[in-house]
Amino acid sequence: MTHALLETEEQRDLRAAVAALGKRYGREYFTGVVAEGRHTDELWAEAASLGYLGVNLPEEYGGGGGGMSELSIVLEELGAAGCPLLMMVVSPAICGTVIARFGTEEQKRTWLPGLADGTRTMAFGITEPDAGSNSHRITTTARRDGWGSSQSERGEWLLTGRKVFISGVDIADATLIVGRTEDARTGKLKPCLFIVPRDAPGFTRSPIDMELAAPEKQFELVLDDVRLPADALVGGGEGEDAGLLQLFAGLNPERIMTAAFAIGMGRYAVDRALDYARTRQVWKEPIGGHQAIAHPLAQAHIELELARLMMAKAAALYDAGDDMGAGEAANMAKYAAGEACVRAVDQSVHTLGGNGLTREYGLASLITAARVARIAPVSREMVLNFVSHQTLGLPKSY
Ligand SMILES: Cc1cc2nc3c(=O)[nH]c(=O)nc-3n(C[C@H](O)[C@H](O)[C@H](O)COP(=O)(O)OP(=O)(O)OC[C@H]3O[C@@H](n4cnc5c(N)ncnc54)[C@H](O)[C@@H]3O)c2cc1C
Repeated sequence: MTHALLETEEQRDLRAAVAALGKRYGREYFTGVVAEGRHTDELWAEAASLGYLGVNLPEEYGGGGGGMSELSIVLEELGAAGCPLLMMVVSPAICGTVIARFGTEEQKRTWLPGLADGTRTMAFGITEPDAGSNSHRITTTARRDGWGSSQSERGEWLLTGRKVFISGVDIADATLIVGRTEDARTGKLKPCLFIVPRDAPGFTRSPIDMELAAPEKQFELVLDDVRLPADALVGGGEGEDAGLLQLFAGLNPERIMTAAFAIGMGRYAVDRALDYARTRQVWKEPIGGHQAIAHPLAQAHIELELARLMMAKAAALYDAGDDMGAGEAANMAKYAAGEACVRAVDQSVHTLGGNGLTREYGLASLITAARVARIAPVSREMVLNFVSHQTLGLPKSY
């Protein structure tokens, strides 16, 4: 039960409506889609047509005019119903936010209505094989081709590099690629965000064989002199200097939404364990009567609720325009939710005994899925580093 102090009436109505939609699809739908090697197209389309996927995007471009508070409620409730939609973290949250805040008028008109109504999706690629957690080390580089000296001569970009673990590139119409430009004047490199269409020549992808039961695949990407028009750069000409700002604008929603993804999944697992613990009886009482089973489930519930509170704080700060405050809270929420989810899933699987590992009960596949929230988009250790340095003022070891 969420108190009115924490959620508005509209937000509570949204939560109830999304939960009802999730329930209509349910876990069986989700696992069926995975087994058939398909994607959750029906759920994605219906959630979008009801305005849930674009709830955070500006109204003038077809969105709901809400914020991360609303979008995180949508993802959490779908996850709690057994349908965690990973692409929600990427398409409306990161890409939608970055374009809405920094895109040119043309980029907004081209992308936002489609991202909002679910007819278009966008993936996000920052991770590189040789950079990993250290995104300062990325080497994907854009160089100018055919740029004239006058403002009116707008040339093209050639983008070259490699990315790894990028989700949903096969189903996304484009991928928002984080690269760097070669700054001709200083020779320095600086981050820049490019919209790369799925079928751009020189843009190739190979799926990574992951131990994950999810509809979204992860890909290794090669960009081999991918030729892009001038307006592929987010923000147009000004985007060259605003790359860092754009990147940070996308990272807070990413962390808040990963928290929502984790909390939803954790709630789903605990609910299944509770169903089981209430009825499974091998001694006098159902196993839920043994404190060794009950307490860890109570603990999991408390940890998920605490993580949800921090997620709500991060979303509220972000929606109020406090990017700095939201940065700290979003990192903490992602950490808390990832840890709570891993522990909730572990305890839920354990509660089912042998059945915890059967396909029929469907919990074992959540063991790997829960770990995603601990490692991505920023690992547990990197959040701890952030809090050590930024919040606690401790020295840096790397
Ligand atoms: C399912 C899945 C989906 C993903 N989707 C996307 C996507 O759509 N787009 C995208 O760009 N990326 C995506 N990623 C990538 C993800 O963001 C990275 O895996 C993550 O940032 C960690 O990078 P890495 O795997 O290279 O690990 P590494 O950086 O190699 O780290 C390995 C281990 O070392 C630890 N470590 C590293 N540096 C330090 C340090 N300084 N101090 C202490 N410990 C440290 C890490 O915490 C980690 O435990 C996805 C990953 C997964 C698993």
